[in-house]
Amino acid sequence: MNNALKVVCVLVFLCGCSAEDPPATAEKPAVGQVQTTSTAVVDEQRIADIETNEPGAWLTFGRNYEEQRFSPLTDINRETVKDLGVAWYKDLDTYHPVQGTPLVIDGVMYFSTPFNIVYAVDAGTGAEIWRYDPEVPRVTRRRACCGANARGLAAYKGRIYTATLDGRLIALDARSGSPTWEVDTVIDHAREYTITGAPRVAAGKVFIGNGGAEYGVRGYVTAYDAATGEQAWRFFTVPGDPSAPFEHPEMELAAKTWKGGEWWKIGGGGTVWNSIVYDPDFENVYLGVGNGSPWTRVLRSPGGGDNLFLASIVALDVHTGRMKWYYQTTPGDNWDYTAVQDMMLADISIDGAERKVLMQAPKNGFFYVIDRADGKLLRAHKFATVTWATHVDLDTGRPVENPDTAYLDNPKWVLPGPGGAHNWHAMSFDADRRLVYFGSHDLPFLFAMPDEYEKTGLYKRRPGQWNTGVEFGRIERLMRESPDPPQNAGFLNAFDPVTGEKKWVVEQDFAWNGGVLATAGDLVFQGAQTGKFVAFDSDSGETRWQMDLHSSMVAPPITYEHEGRQFVTILTGAGGGAPGSADDLYGSTGRVVTFALDGKAELPSPVERNRDYPEPPALTAAVADIERGEVLFGDICGACHAPGAFSSGGGIPDLRQMNRETHAEWAAIVLGGSKRDLGMDSFADVLTADDSERLHQYMIARTIEARKETAAAEAAAAP
Ligand code: CA
Repeated sequence: MNNALKVVCVLVFLCGCSAEDPPATAEKPAVGQVQTTSTAVVDEQRIADIETNEPGAWLTFGRNYEEQRFSPLTDINRETVKDLGVAWYKDLDTYHPVQGTPLVIDGVMYFSTPFNIVYAVDAGTGAEIWRYDPEVPRVTRRRACCGANARGLAAYKGRIYTATLDGRLIALDARSGSPTWEVDTVIDHAREYTITGAPRVAAGKVFIGNGGAEYGVRGYVTAYDAATGEQAWRFFTVPGDPSAPFEHPEMELAAKTWKGGEWWKIGGGGTVWNSIVYDPDFENVYLGVGNGSPWTRVLRSPGGGDNLFLASIVALDVHTGRMKWYYQTTPGDNWDYTAVQDMMLADISIDGAERKVLMQAPKNGFFYVIDRADGKLLRAHKFATVTWATHVDLDTGRPVENPDTAYLDNPKWVLPGPGGAHNWHAMSFDADRRLVYFGSHDLPFLFAMPDEYEKTGLYKRRPGQWNTGVEFGRIERLMRESPDPPQNAGFLNAFDPVTGEKKWVVEQDFAWNGGVLATAGDLVFQGAQTGKFVAFDSDSGETRWQMDLHSSMVAPPITYEHEGRQFVTILTGAGGGAPGSADDLYGSTGRVVTFALDGKAELPSPVERNRDYPEPPALTAAVADIERGEVLFGDICGACHAPGAFSSGGGIPDLRQMNRETHAEWAAIVLGGSKRDLGMDSFADVLTADDSERLHQYMIARTIEARKETAAAEAAAAP
C-alpha cells in the first residue's frame, strides 16, 4: 500500500512552529502576493453556527454540513433582482470544463479550476490574493473519463484542502497558499485513478475518494488527519482479489454478493468521485458510491449477485471508518448508475414523525429519502423518465427491474442512459417550501452487449482504455440508425421529496444544465448550456431575471454577503462528460462572474463558436476501414472529443476543424505524443499505425459530412 507522506513543512521552515498549529501571527507574504487578514479558521462549531453567526458565508462545498445549498440572504429577491448586474469577473485561462463551487470565508473567495489551480481572491473585487498551481501533468487528462474536472475545496482551521486530478491531497495555508502537507492517495499507479471531487473535512479528518471506474479501478475512500496528513482509516467499496485477506470486515459481507468472473482483475468499480457528507447528528460520514466496472453485470459478476457496495449510499462511523448501514440504490448495477450524486441532509416531517433524513437524486431516476438513523428507505419517487425499473418496492427497498429493457440478447434503448437522469450538478433544498430544486434530463442510450462477449463470454481488461464493456463506436452507429430514437430533453424541477410531486417544471432548450442555488429571496439561480444565467421564481418557476454570459455553464452558483452587500457568483465553462449540443452558441469560456444589485461591469464581447470546417485531405480508405475507425474513435477518442466527433461538450478541439498542417501531423500527434503538453497523450500503447490511419480517415469522412451540412444550411438560408 502506497501512502508515502510528503510533509512539505513550509510553516516549520518559516516560523518554527509545528505543522499541527497554523501560526496565529502574520508571516510576510511572498513577492507578488497580497497579505490577507483572514486565516479561514473554520471548524465544526463555526459551521454549525453559520445560520446565526454568519448567514452570508459559504463555508463548505454545500455551504454547511447539511449541504442544502440554500442561502437565507434576501437583499437580492424577486422584486430587486431586476437590478442585478455584473460586479466583477475574472478570466480563468482554460478551455477545460469548469465545475467548481467557491467557498467564501472572512471576505476571501477560494475556488479551483481545471488541473486544480487554486485561487484566493478578494470577495468584494475579485482581486487575486494568491494562486497555487500543483502542476498536474496535463497528460493526466487521458486517465479522466470526463475531463480535468475540479469540483471544489474544503476549509478547516486555517487550511484550504485540495485534491488533484493525479490523485494527491494537499493542505494549503489559507493566508499564503503555500502547501503544508501533501499525500499521494493512489494505491496503484498502474491503474487510472483520478480525483475530481471536493475533499470534506470534519472531526479532525479529511475525506477523499477518487474516480476511474470507466477505466477499471477498485474504489475506496481514505480519511487523513487534517493537521498532519497521516492516514486515519480507509474503506474499500468493492471486494478485491478473493485469494487475499479482507482489508476490513465489510469486505467479507460484500464479497458474498459477487459471483463468478474475475472482477478484481478488471477493477470492480464503485468509485466515490463526488459526494462525501459529514453528519454531526450521528457522527457519520456518508459515501456516495459509483457504478460497476465494467458497466455490464454479466461481464463483471456472471453468477449474479447485488455486487455490494456498487451504486450505494454507505454510512461510516466518522472516527473509525466502520460501517453503520448501507442502502443500495441499484443492486447488480448494469447501466453505469452511480449513486455519487450530491447528498443533502435535512430534518423533515414524514409519515407523522420528525425524521433526520438523507436525500439523493442519483443517475437511476429515483429520488431517495433515507432515514439517517438506520438507513431505512422512506421514499423512492421517480423524478424523470425511467424505463429500466417499474418502481422501487418500499418494503424490500429494492427496485423492480423492467424485463422489456434487458439488453443481454438484443440491444435496447434505456432511460436513464449513462449520463443519468441527474448527475453531479448540485441541488438546493428550500426547507420552508419543502422543495428540492434540481435539473434533470432525458439522455437515452442504446445498451448492447459487446461483440467480444458474443465470441468468448469473457471480458479482459484493456489497460489505458475504457473498460465499460460497452462499445461506444458501434453503439453510436446503432443509435444513429435506430428508426425511432427517444429524444434528449432537459428540465428544471421544483420537487417535493415526500410526495414525489413537482410543484413546477421548466422545460429547457437543451439537456445538461448547471447546478442550482435557492435563496430566501424567493429565487432559484441556474446557469444553462445556452449561456443564459437565470433567476427563477421559487414558487412558480417564472423567469424573474436573466443575463447572457456568453458561455455554457455546468457549475452551481453560490451567494454571499460582503461588507453589507449580497453577491451571487458562478464559474462559467462547459463540459464534464456533457453530451454537448451542436447548437450551442458560444461553447466554453472559463471565467468567474460575480453579480450584485446595481453591478455595472461589462463582460468582454462574446466569442462565437467557430463553425468553419477547412477542406481536408482526400478520403482514400475503404468503407470497412472508415467503419473500423468509427468504432476506434468511440472507444478511444470519444471520451474527450465526444462520441461522433462533434466535440461540442466543451473547449476540447473539434477535430473536424483541423487544418492541413494538423492533418499532416496526425501520426506525430496520435502516436508520437507531440501535443502531450496540451493533454493529448500518445496512444501508441493501444493503437497500431494502421488503426491510427483508420481513425484519421474516419475524421476526414466526418469533416466532409460537416462541410456538406454547412453548405446545405447556407444554401437554405440564402435569399
Ligand atoms: Ca461512471
